[in-house]
Amino acid sequence: MLLDSGIIRAFYKEFAEKINKSKKSLKRPLTLSEKILYSHLYSNKKIDSPHRGSDYVDFAPDRVAMQDATAQMALLQFMMAGKDHSVVPASVHCDHLIMAKYGADEDMKSAVFTNKEVYDFLSSACNKYGIGFWKPGAGIIHQIILENYAFPGGMMIGTDSHTPNAGGLGMIAIGVGGADAVDVMTGMELELKLPRIIGIKLIGRLNGWASAKDIILKVAGLLTVNGGTGCIVEYFGEGAESLSCTGKATICNMGAEIGATCSIFGYDDSMAEYLIATGRKEVAELAEINREHLISDTEVLTEPEKYYDHYIEINLSELEPYINGPFTPDLATPISKMKETAEKNRWPVNVEVGLIGSCTNSSYEDISRAASVVKNALSLNLTARSEFKITPGSEQIRFIAERDGYFDLFEKIGGKIFANACGPCIGQWDRKGSDKSPVNTVIHSFNRNFAKRTDGNPNTYAFVASPEIVTAIAISGKLTFNPITDTLINTEGKEVKLSEPEGHELPPQGFGNIENGLQKPEKNSGKEDIVISSDSDRIQLLAPFREWDGVDFSDLPLLIKAKGKCTTDHISMAGFWLKYRGHLENISNNYMIGAVNYFNEKTNLILNQLSHKYEAVPSVARAYKNAGLGSVVVGEENFGEGSSREHAAMEPRYLNVRAVIAKSFARIHETNLKKQGILTLTFSDKADYDKIREDDKIDIKGLKEFAPGKQISIVLNHSNGKKETITANHSYNDTQITWFKAGSALNLIRESNKRHI
Ligand code: SF4
Repeated sequence: MLLDSGIIRAFYKEFAEKINKSKKSLKRPLTLSEKILYSHLYSNKKIDSPHRGSDYVDFAPDRVAMQDATAQMALLQFMMAGKDHSVVPASVHCDHLIMAKYGADEDMKSAVFTNKEVYDFLSSACNKYGIGFWKPGAGIIHQIILENYAFPGGMMIGTDSHTPNAGGLGMIAIGVGGADAVDVMTGMELELKLPRIIGIKLIGRLNGWASAKDIILKVAGLLTVNGGTGCIVEYFGEGAESLSCTGKATICNMGAEIGATCSIFGYDDSMAEYLIATGRKEVAELAEINREHLISDTEVLTEPEKYYDHYIEINLSELEPYINGPFTPDLATPISKMKETAEKNRWPVNVEVGLIGSCTNSSYEDISRAASVVKNALSLNLTARSEFKITPGSEQIRFIAERDGYFDLFEKIGGKIFANACGPCIGQWDRKGSDKSPVNTVIHSFNRNFAKRTDGNPNTYAFVASPEIVTAIAISGKLTFNPITDTLINTEGKEVKLSEPEGHELPPQGFGNIENGLQKPEKNSGKEDIVISSDSDRIQLLAPFREWDGVDFSDLPLLIKAKGKCTTDHISMAGFWLKYRGHLENISNNYMIGAVNYFNEKTNLILNQLSHKYEAVPSVARAYKNAGLGSVVVGEENFGEGSSREHAAMEPRYLNVRAVIAKSFARIHETNLKKQGILTLTFSDKADYDKIREDDKIDIKGLKEFAPGKQISIVLNHSNGKKETITANHSYNDTQITWFKAGSALNLIRESNKRHI
């Protein structure tokens, strides 16, 4: 189905000209990633000689995608911006909140009932603001994007870390926090540190049991979980061209596991075929016209070492299947070495469940190859010794897999089809007995396998492999089974050997016409009411934060002086709290509960300067707020590192924290705090951190003269009557200072919208 045709046409009309302009200005050949990035500069700004890995650049993405857990706060914030529609095309996907338990039909009914207030809110807000709403059951965000929206050369952001999946269709697709999504939907820029670029040349061709999944499993082993941080991974070479479009998407999807900003493949025939098969012939034709601009320049491809920051070569002809894990996706073991590795590490090798699917690996190719293994096993009189579960990535995939008989095959070996949703991939699997935390092993074709991620049980050893290897291992029941060399004993006691899997890149009978679950944004949307039930404990309207009253801060009690690492997870925990992502008041009850109090080295136990008792951080913050007091939070190095979670900045603002002072900040969190109107300062002398006492009251002076580069004076009023004055630095620019004065960046946007009405 072709959505956004006008926007895509307009994009390609200017694409070549923009690239030529960038080349002229930079006077050198460009990699594919650079071509796409520089053709998406905000306000068509000129670039001179940007430094990859250090310079910050403003971009204007073509599209925004949000999943249902992150979309709640993003849309609540968007409502505050005073816009009547999203400035760029956007979509919301109901996939994360569906619990897998009994099977697709029952689980869907239960999800629709349990999450009704969230879905009603998202659906009505999407309708009002012209945003596509993909109903529960329609499928998983990244699979839907690939099937419907992604286009070669485009740039998108998504409020989910596996957004890079769209790189399989030649798109720069980046996972961001909700605050970034709101910025782009309101017409602001996306600020990004210009990524470094890793070039991976794929030579040779996959064969036998090896699949696209094994490429990224190997890359994860080579680069480790943070080897791609701040980088785009660009794949090229004849091996890349030999992969299916959906295989490329699998590789890009799982690039998130090496911390990459995103991954990308150049445009080729496989992308054209996929576009045509999914009803987007026009996009394929436009991409074809721009083919030379949708790959790296020839000079880059011939001398990759010269143009990439890091260069790797992988020979696909020699690649064997990998099994990664447990507990981390970069612990890569070639299947031929699994027996000795598992024995050495004493991993439990009896596999209880094999799971295939998710947004990572539920293409037609994946399903058909896994089904060929099952068909072969049935013909050899084998049964599955492990349980077997399938999570289709979309209604489209579910429809064709069922139509073409693959689900029948899976069911013959006891397979259970879950809803078209994330389910076990995000811990939304109500697995029988997992609450008792038994030690056990599962293998899946998803992307992440951190402890508790699959079923909430810290003792589940989760391994990651391709769908065909997962299927073979589920049939054998053993993690150490290698279908390339090993045999199995069938129901008649005979020794048999599985054949190599076979599959189709695209469905021979086509994708078919289905009711895909999209509630299209209405042309004349804007009048409808947004549905929020008044007694909802999951969705709550936001109220604008108060603007700065023009007066210096005085006598602010210290809330907490955090010791050591303080990530966004310490600041705003996930897990149980996910359910309150749309309710600022309720989720604020997790504020800093994971941070260590410097003064007693305990978590969530700090001095309340009003009651003189030790209490939980959120209770103390509320006590100060209720008494009309602001407060100050103090931290150490890289404060707020981790995922870009806007709740970690909204909660302190809601709780009336006026300033956060740290030795240094993680940049995204620092910007998020600034956006929410919290004064974000760093100690000019890091040793001053030691001067902050537990019962200090803090003055922050000179705010009327707040200006870029100008230091701020802080007075520490100690309880013994003594005062100490220290100075703080800040990184505010003029615009960011206006955010502080307006009370938040959104307040400013809303005010400027009012002026334009
Ligand atoms: S299927 Fe897994 S990786 Fe994909 S969006 Fe859902 S939780 Fe994320």
